[in-house]
Amino acid sequence: MEKELLRSEKLKVIGKLASGFAHEIRNPLTTIRGFMQLYKETDDKKVDNYHYHIILSEIDRVNSIVEDLLTIAKPDREKEKTNVQMNDILVDTLYLFHSQAKTKNITTNYKLDPSLPHIYAEEKKLKQVVMNLIKNAIEAIHENGHIHVSSESVTEKEVQGIIVRIEDNGEGMTQETLDKLGSPFYTTKKDGTGLGLMTCFQIIEEAGGSIQVDSEQRKGTVFKIWLPLR
Ligand code: ADP
Ligand code: MG
Repeated sequence: MEKELLRSEKLKVIGKLASGFAHEIRNPLTTIRGFMQLYKETDDKKVDNYHYHIILSEIDRVNSIVEDLLTIAKPDREKEKTNVQMNDILVDTLYLFHSQAKTKNITTNYKLDPSLPHIYAEEKKLKQVVMNLIKNAIEAIHENGHIHVSSESVTEKEVQGIIVRIEDNGEGMTQETLDKLGSPFYTTKKDGTGLGLMTCFQIIEEAGGSIQVDSEQRKGTVFKIWLPLR
């Protein structure tokens, strides 16, 4: 009886997730289709810059939704694990977002533990976590702000591990947002997917770690990731 109940609960969650994904994917597809229809009906076969950018960004959106879905669906794969240097991921990701940050007048800096130990994990997944958090930090700053990234080696309850902090002085979160953090499709952005943090929580949890969030409205946000070495 109990088992049956659990199963139907699970199916309910899966159903909710699936319809959410379907909805999120259909929105950009509808936009793209609309523009293509318009294009077909006009004699002037020139796609102007404005439409061109919207179509591209909507395609990117579908892609990132599918990417998140795949991450959630994929179980932890032992054979994908290697010894990963988190400092490299942090530096690479900040570099990746360099021009986006510059456009918004956001400065970045980092303080990395030079003797940070490697962790045994899936590098691609950890990259995805850092990318999601830095992207959110940039989006939380409307203009002129600062993002600080740091790493340190720690031992918690006799388990060796690392701590990564990603701090921004952006808009911060309301209590409601904090409470809903990590629920699928919860977003306060007009073009958000509300999947980034859910993916982050899932990846870090699977790696045996945890994520802590500290945020204050109009002050900023700190994401603190704890990861055991193995
Ligand atoms: P999305 O970025 O698509 O909205 P996320 O799961 O990445 O989805 O984030 C969910 C919500 O959490 C965001 O819409 C935003 O309200 C809040 N959030 C996440 N990171 C930050 C941050 N660094 N500062 C302020 N709010 C944030
Ligand atoms: Mg996000």
